[in-house]
Amino acid sequence: MNSIERIHAAIRFQKPDRVPVDLHNFQPAARATGKPLPEVFRDGELLAEAMLAAWREFGHDMILLENGTACNAQACGATVTYMDNSAPVSHTAFLKELKDVLSLEVPDPYKAFPMCEILKATRILAKETAGQVWICARADQGPMDLAAQLRGLDNFMLDIATEEEPELIDALLDYCRRVATRYAFALIECGGHSTSIGEPVAGPDMLSPKHYRQYPWKHEKRMVEELKARGIILHNHICGNTLPIADDFIATGAEVLEIDHKTDARRIKEKARGKTTLLGNIDTGLLYSGTPAEVGAACREAIEIMAPGGGFILGPGCALGTDTPTANIHALVESAKKCGRY
Ligand SMILES: [Zn+2]
Repeated sequence: MNSIERIHAAIRFQKPDRVPVDLHNFQPAARATGKPLPEVFRDGELLAEAMLAAWREFGHDMILLENGTACNAQACGATVTYMDNSAPVSHTAFLKELKDVLSLEVPDPYKAFPMCEILKATRILAKETAGQVWICARADQGPMDLAAQLRGLDNFMLDIATEEEPELIDALLDYCRRVATRYAFALIECGGHSTSIGEPVAGPDMLSPKHYRQYPWKHEKRMVEELKARGIILHNHICGNTLPIADDFIATGAEVLEIDHKTDARRIKEKARGKTTLLGNIDTGLLYSGTPAEVGAACREAIEIMAPGGGFILGPGCALGTDTPTANIHALVESAKKCGRY
């Protein structure tokens, strides 16, 4: 089986030859180029080169392509700072009032920066890898996360807590869904095999399960449905412990749920079995500060718990830190190859 067949099998709950493995490594890949991170994250050619070099070194089955968590916000008009040692950061409170969303236009991903650069990177990766690796070209942030970036996290949490303008909360989430969906279509047109949304602000660490269900959930579900209607696979990434919202998270219908190490693997597997594919959930802290042997042990445990019945892709639980040791990344990928046989 090649990487594409292996991931297709996993997503269809069939048995691949072994557990597929992804890397969420845009930061260490950019660091390994020796160029300043802001330069790599602004330039589709440099970003593609970085991701290609990492794929050639580690031999993972799935590339997660992105330039951080501020791409959509910047394309919508937010000010973004490109950091020297980590992903770009968007400045908050771009929308002074909720109703300001009514005058915003959905950006054209082929023209808006930096979406157009990530599209360029997707095209280069698709051409250079020629079907040998799965490219998850990430549509950056989902409805809730992008809304929190455009409105400002504190402001948006207050909007939700006071519920004075519920229609405008939904209008903002709907706008953000349209931004991410239009971008997702373009990423697939440029050669992505799947796409994703990051929704860390929608997780129970930030938002109550009641408000998750009430606000972002229906917008995430609608996005999944619109993409699915065109045969496009969406991953939904929510950081932290997602068990309190697991049933709703699964009910978004996303083919892949990206879970981090705070989510109990056994319990989420029980709920997800036969319904969705789990991707994760190796602790990025362990990957940064542990030994290769410790990483290997964590991977073996994750495989034992989540691989049975298919529907599992091994990978980091979230984005790898910029200075994650190369030996630990090798240990992660090799674990799938050594211990992931079906
Ligand atoms: Zn995360």
